[in-house]
Amino acid sequence: MNLTFFGGAGEVGRNCIFLEAGGSSLLLDCGIKLGEKEEYPLLGKEHFTSIENIAISHTHMDHIGYLPFMYNKGCTAKIYATKPTRDLTQLLLSDYLRIHGKGDFDVNDIANVLKHYNIVEYGESVDISKELSMSFHNAGHILGSAMISISGEKNVLYTGDTNIRGTKILDGAEKNIEAEVLIIESTYGGKNDVHKSLKDNSNLLCKSINDTVDRNGKVLIPTFAVGRGQEILLILESYMRSGILRKVPIYVDGMVLKANRIYRHNVYYAKEEIKKRILMSEEDPFKSKFFFSPATLKKSEALAKPCIIVSTSGMLTGGPGLGYLKRLADGENNKVILVGYQAEGTLGRKISEGEKKVRIRGEEIDLKLETEQYEFSAHSDHNGLIELIDSIRGLKKIFLIHGEGNKPKELAEEIGDRYEVIMPRNSETFIL
Ligand SMILES: [Zn+2]
Ligand SMILES: [Zn+2]
Repeated sequence: MNLTFFGGAGEVGRNCIFLEAGGSSLLLDCGIKLGEKEEYPLLGKEHFTSIENIAISHTHMDHIGYLPFMYNKGCTAKIYATKPTRDLTQLLLSDYLRIHGKGDFDVNDIANVLKHYNIVEYGESVDISKELSMSFHNAGHILGSAMISISGEKNVLYTGDTNIRGTKILDGAEKNIEAEVLIIESTYGGKNDVHKSLKDNSNLLCKSINDTVDRNGKVLIPTFAVGRGQEILLILESYMRSGILRKVPIYVDGMVLKANRIYRHNVYYAKEEIKKRILMSEEDPFKSKFFFSPATLKKSEALAKPCIIVSTSGMLTGGPGLGYLKRLADGENNKVILVGYQAEGTLGRKISEGEKKVRIRGEEIDLKLETEQYEFSAHSDHNGLIELIDSIRGLKKIFLIHGEGNKPKELAEEIGDRYEVIMPRNSETFIL
């Protein structure tokens, strides 16, 4: 078996790993790196038409973004993914096309991508060739996210993005899987990456929002449309319902609204409690009376009084969140609260590092509003990653990817005594 890293090694973005076994091949994820400069996986032209199978771990652009580029260039590979992953793919790719559309692909290519999807359930085993079979396991990252275990000459487990802790909506990642070789993310692999509990984080978030509301300010929470957006909305909803959070409108704008709908339709993949609330009670948390959108309340009215705005994109690389930031920037009483990972080169990262003069849609803006960050992470932290790694049965070799700077190295230092740990570079090939 050969393993080549076409993207995602030593970086967060454009995950793309190529596995060859005998006569067959499998691509694990196919993402692009967003930011000031967009980066694509280092696949060659020949791969577009020769790759036969693609397995997708979950629907974030750093894992699916390159698909329409490939199908535009003649790719006919079968795509394997869970149902939420397929449903969310249409949403994310269409939105990307709308915002960044540059003629590399069009709506027909997105339709073509979707046509090639084959749905795989968690736990189901699928033969993809004589040499390879695979099965999907809950990754705990976003709805439908999967860790993919591939059986061939060796057993290889690819985690995609993974969170072993349960969240408001999801059960934590499955543990104790068997694999000789592991390809694992290390987004928060750093020694100092310790995530607070969901409860502590939620309390801090609510206190911070209450402080802002009490001084007549407005709060902007930029989030990923898929995953973080739903988690944050459900936290705000439950704290507002219980009276801990001040009752001001929660104004939801952008793609997060559409993603909510797909979450509701695929609630079968969520944890029991949410499933029950949506399927068996009148208390559908996604249809809360606290939520407003441009369809139910005018933007100008919403922004006239204290409110909480939840909008895309999570790293402020685009989407209506940018417009809200511009509107709120001037008010010292306002606040922007970042709730997820901010990749290098993004506006979110700059703000999180304290920059006060930023460029938004070509205009120089002074940020007078307050900035805070709470890590409502959809990823495992340093100890969580180690817990997941140590749970794997028969593990010998680990490839650390999807991590920036020193993070993979700091994780490698912790586990190097008991496994062979490799930090690959992009374009490197390994024989397993
Ligand atoms: Zn992700
Ligand atoms: Zn990712």
